Amino acid sequence: MRNKEYHTTCSYCGVGCGITIREGKNGDLQLEGTKDHPVNQGMLCSKGMNLLYTVNDTSDRLKYPEMRWSKHHPMERVDWDTALNRAAMVFKSLITKYGPDSVGFYVSGQCLTEEYYLVNKLTKGFIGTNNIDTNSRLCMSSAVVGYVKTLGEDSVPISYEDIELADLFFIAGANPAWCHPILFRRIEKHKEKNPDTNIIVVDPRVTQTCSLADLHLQINPGTDTVLYQAIGRCLIERGDIDLDFIKKHTDGFDAYRQEVMSRSLTEAAAICDVPLKDIELAATMIGNAKGFLTMWAMGLNQSSEGVNKNLALLGLNLITGHVGKPGSGPFSLTGQPNAMGGREVGGMASLLAAHRLQQSEAHRKEVADYWGVDHLPDKPGLTATQMFESLADGRLKAIWIICTNPSVSLPDARLVDEALKKAKFVIVQDISRNADTVKYADLVLPAAGWLEKQGTMTNSERRISLLSKVIDPPGEALPDAEILIRFARKMGFKGFDYKNFEEIYLEHAGLTKGTNIDITGLDYKRLEQEGTFQWPVPSKDHRGTPRLFSDHQFFTKNKRAQIHTCGPQNEAEPLNDDYPLILTTGRIRDQWHTMTRTGKVSKLKKHIDKPFLEIHPSDAAQAQIKDGDPVIIENTRGQVSALAKVTEDIKSGVVFLPMHWGKILNRDFGRANNLTSSNFDPVSKQPGFKYAAVKVQKYIKP
Ligand code: SF4
Repeated sequence: MRNKEYHTTCSYCGVGCGITIREGKNGDLQLEGTKDHPVNQGMLCSKGMNLLYTVNDTSDRLKYPEMRWSKHHPMERVDWDTALNRAAMVFKSLITKYGPDSVGFYVSGQCLTEEYYLVNKLTKGFIGTNNIDTNSRLCMSSAVVGYVKTLGEDSVPISYEDIELADLFFIAGANPAWCHPILFRRIEKHKEKNPDTNIIVVDPRVTQTCSLADLHLQINPGTDTVLYQAIGRCLIERGDIDLDFIKKHTDGFDAYRQEVMSRSLTEAAAICDVPLKDIELAATMIGNAKGFLTMWAMGLNQSSEGVNKNLALLGLNLITGHVGKPGSGPFSLTGQPNAMGGREVGGMASLLAAHRLQQSEAHRKEVADYWGVDHLPDKPGLTATQMFESLADGRLKAIWIICTNPSVSLPDARLVDEALKKAKFVIVQDISRNADTVKYADLVLPAAGWLEKQGTMTNSERRISLLSKVIDPPGEALPDAEILIRFARKMGFKGFDYKNFEEIYLEHAGLTKGTNIDITGLDYKRLEQEGTFQWPVPSKDHRGTPRLFSDHQFFTKNKRAQIHTCGPQNEAEPLNDDYPLILTTGRIRDQWHTMTRTGKVSKLKKHIDKPFLEIHPSDAAQAQIKDGDPVIIENTRGQVSALAKVTEDIKSGVVFLPMHWGKILNRDFGRANNLTSSNFDPVSKQPGFKYAAVKVQKYIKP
C-alpha cells in the first residue's frame, strides 16, 4: 500500500462498522472509523479501535503449512503442494472407502462471503455431502428458523436507520452496550435527543445495557416465552393490537390468542419471577409505541427452546402490526461479522444458496445445474455439535476446520477434545497458533487475515460491504478462498478456475437472480465506488433496500406473515440437589470469541483480565464464598475455576461465566464450555449455552 486510503469493515461483530485505513508518515498504518459510513458515522468501539494491534503483531501467526505424517509423528513445515496433495489424498481415500458423508467442514461466520460460497460449492456440489456447518449455528440458527416460520424467509426486515425512528426498544437476551457497542451508542444518542423514548430490557442479569433501561424485566433464565406470551395476553385484553393488520396480513392469530389466554398473568409472573405490574407496564409501553423495535441476541437463540423464544417475540411485532414500518420491526443482533453472508450462500448443513430449500428437489436441481453437477445430496448434513459427536463415535472420519476454535467455543468442550483426538484426520485452517484447536491438527494451513485479502461481508441489517486488501499476509499464508480453490483442483474438480475473487462473488450473485435476495445489481466496482448496499439490489441502477415488507407482502407462499403458538416449554437440563444453580454464559466488553485476536492486545485486557463468576450474595453466603475468592464451578461434564464476583446484578439461583477463556497456565480451567451441554433446539439445532445445572464451591488449596 502506498499513499492510498482504503475502506474496509470491522471483522469482529455483526454491526459491521466501516473502517478507513491510511498510510502514516513512516509507512505505518493508521485506522479510524469511516466518517460518512451509514453504520457507525466515524465511531468505533474498543475492539474495532484496536484492530491494528492484531494485524501488526504477527508473533503468533501461522505462516507456513505444517503436517505430520502420522499421529505419532511431530508436525513439520511443508510446502503448499505437499500439504494440499496430502489433504486431497486423505479425502479421496476416505470418500472412496466410507462415502462422502465420512468427511465434513466446520467453518465460521468470520469467513468472507466468497469463502463461504466456495466451501459450500466444494462440499455440497462436488464432494457430495451436506456436512458443512458453521459456528453461526451457535449464534443465529434459531433466529433464522424464527424468520423463516413467520416472515417466510431468513430476512431481517429493518435497517439501522430505524433506530432513530423508534420510540420503544425491547432488548431481550442481549447486552448491546458490550456486545454491539456502536448500535448501543446510536440508541443512547437517540434517547438523549428524545427522552420520551422507552427502553425495556429483558435479562436475568443487570448488564450495562440496563443503564439505559426504563424497565428491566429480570426474568428467570429460560422463561422468555412465558413472558412474551403474557405481554401478548395483556395487549389482546386491552385491545392494543392491530386487528386490521392481523386480518389482512397474517395467519394463526386465533390459535395464538387461545394459547396466550390459557395461562393467567399471575401464573406467568410467578414463572418468570417478575412483578405482574411490570409485565403490564411493558404492555402499556408497547401499546403506546409508534415505532417498536424488538432486538435480541444469544439470550434467546442459544437455547434448547431457541426457536420458540424467537416465535414468541416475533409474535409481539406481528399482533401489533409493527413490521415493515419506519422505526418498527424484529431486529436480531448478529454476533459475527458475516453470519448473514454465510446464510445468503446457504452456508449451513440445512441450507441452500439464496434461501433455497435443501429439502426441495427442484431447488437442489437449480443449484446443481448452475454448478454443472448431476445432483446435490438430499440427506441433511451434520450440524455443528452433531459433527463433533460423529467424530467422537467414528461415523465422521475427517474434519476441516476453517477460522474457528471449537475446542473452546463449542458446548461440552471435553467431548469436542475427545472427538478431535479420535478423528482420523483433522485439518485446521486459521491465522493464529493461539487457537487451542491447532494442537489437534494433522495438517495446519496458514490463512490470510483481516486487511490481507479482498472479499465481501453482510452485516446485521443486510448491508453488503467490500473489504479491501491492504497488506500481504505473513510468510506463505494464503487467502482462504485461494486455499480452497487449490484443494478443489487437487481433487480434480472442474469449475474452480477463478481468475480473481470477484469472479467468485459474481457467480454467487448469479445464483440469487430472481430470488428475494437478488444482488445481481452489485459488483466490486460498485461497492468500491458507491459504498455499501442492503439487499436486494436486483439491477445496476438499484440503490438497495433499507426496509423489507413495507407493502406487507411477506415471503411466505400466501404472502401473509404467520403467527405461531409455541406448545409446552421445557428447558433441557433440570436442576437437582447436587447441581442447584443455573449457569449462564456470555461475553465481556473488550474480548471477542476465544480471544485469539483480542487476547493479544494489552489495552483490551485492562478491562477484565481473568475469568470471573457472577454469583448472588445469598448463593455466595450459602457456600461461604466472599467476593474475590477462587471458586470451582462443577457439574457432571467438567469443572471451571474462576474468581467470585459477588453481586446483586445477577438473580439468586443463577451464576454467570464469560465464554472467552480457554486454557490458563496450560490447564483448561477457564473454559466455560467444560460445563455447558450440547443439547440443542430440536428445529434449529442450535445448542443452549445459557442453561446448565451446576454447583459452586470455594476453592481450597490441597
Ligand atoms: Fe467492530 Fe462491532 Fe465494535 Fe463496530 S461495534 S467497531 S463492528 S466490534
